Amino acid sequence: MKAQFGIIGLATMGQNLALNIARHNFSVAGYNRSAERTQALMARVKDEPILPTFALSEFVSVLARPRAILLMVQAGRPVDEVLSELFPLLEPGDLLIDGGNSHFADTERRIREAESRGLLYLGVGISGGEAGALKGPALMAGGHVEGYARVEPIFKAIAAQGLDGPCTGYFGPGGSGHYVKMVHNGIEYAIMQIIAECYDLLKRGLGFTPPEIAAVFAEWNQGELESYLLGITVDILRTRDSETGGFLVEAIKDAAEQKGTGKWSTQAALDLGAPTPTIAEAVFARIVSALKEERLGAEKILPGPTPRLSLAPRELLEDLRKAYALALVTAYAQGFRQLQDASSEHGYGFSLAEVARVWTAGCIIRARMLGVMREAFQREPNLPLLVLAEPFRKLWHEGQGSLRNVVCLAHRAGIPVPAFSSTLNFLDSYRTGRLPANLIQAQRDYFGAHTYERLDRPGKFHTRWEEAPRC
Ligand code: NAP
Repeated sequence: MKAQFGIIGLATMGQNLALNIARHNFSVAGYNRSAERTQALMARVKDEPILPTFALSEFVSVLARPRAILLMVQAGRPVDEVLSELFPLLEPGDLLIDGGNSHFADTERRIREAESRGLLYLGVGISGGEAGALKGPALMAGGHVEGYARVEPIFKAIAAQGLDGPCTGYFGPGGSGHYVKMVHNGIEYAIMQIIAECYDLLKRGLGFTPPEIAAVFAEWNQGELESYLLGITVDILRTRDSETGGFLVEAIKDAAEQKGTGKWSTQAALDLGAPTPTIAEAVFARIVSALKEERLGAEKILPGPTPRLSLAPRELLEDLRKAYALALVTAYAQGFRQLQDASSEHGYGFSLAEVARVWTAGCIIRARMLGVMREAFQREPNLPLLVLAEPFRKLWHEGQGSLRNVVCLAHRAGIPVPAFSSTLNFLDSYRTGRLPANLIQAQRDYFGAHTYERLDRPGKFHTRWEEAPRC
């Protein structure tokens, strides 16, 4: 009997996906460059139909034809290295699936290479981390549609169950699946930063202990603000450090690392001209946090106000909850806007309602609000920004005062809130009919003869500013 599905790369994600697929009665062949990981997988196998292989040629030979092979190796050069070894062993009609966090442009290049060899290729963003891979991830696929049709039954079987079925979707040709996953990660960065800012305001601003902050977040997490990331934050804040007996979160070095998907998301937004400042700020906040030694030095040279908010806790808590809701929705709104622009620019042609549906379960940014976002995009597929639609518009009406209060209080106390602040600046800019960009256009024309448009008539105009009459 030949295996129905093959996986190359048996680290955390590859092993768990292999077990998940095999537990749904699809036979799986596994291969990893170093044999230890293959053996580690087999040590976890009970009676699942998993076949270990120890050479690439052996792996290819045990797969049913046309083959379906999932690559779960480190993103970047390793994917190209594995592909160059694999290509000569495959036959036209075989399907390759890159399930790692590859850059969408790399996926588009690899699709062209696969096509030239008569192979089918899918770039699939897989979210949900270690637990999701084993119990039900969200799968965002792009590439050859006939390839997706071939593996859809497997993807449907292993995916998390969300609104209206399994959280797997096909988002169009090329690198669309990896693009959707990249923006998913950008939104993830923003949400994590917003939650961290709430934590800092409660901790340094009000003097709350981690369990007291956990209690606040747990209450928010009961209703419409329920999300996976807020839920795990509650668990984290309640976790003790077995070594010191204190709270583990307070023993962790405050220098955030990153693997690059938030940066890619921001770079791609800049390339498109899509407004995603809250996501960008979250990336910069991690960069600044990583300058730990510099910050410790600067703390002594650049003193600021005492980071204590002079108000009763209940006065902040209601404002903070509303500000959190508004910032959260704005982070999704910016991500969806980038996806909409990317879909037109790259010809992906996907629906934002379908993206929201696939994100309702299994993935890291799953949240109760995604169901409501999906409905908003079903009603208005070309909605330019989510906050323009109900019920999100109501969040602005009810929460803008709170967001302003939170940002003002934080700034006065010297507590950095880059995501909150950026959200407010973005929303204020977006809802302002007349911005000062007229002056920027004049400056550009003055020093560079870049021309400008006028409000009162069409056309491009240039002024010889140095010779123009002045008052
Ligand atoms: P990883 O740490 O990103 O990568 C390790 C795997 O890549 C190992 O199997 C390793 O083989 C293999 N590898 C590295 N260089 C190779 C090369 N030149 N040739 C052949 N194999 C090579 O593993 P992971 O955390 O399981 O993630 C796999 C992919 O999923 C990545 O793209 C990651 O970004 C993405 N992802 C991860 C998560 C997560 O929570 N971890 C979530 C979503 C997506 P050896 O054992 O021989 O070194």
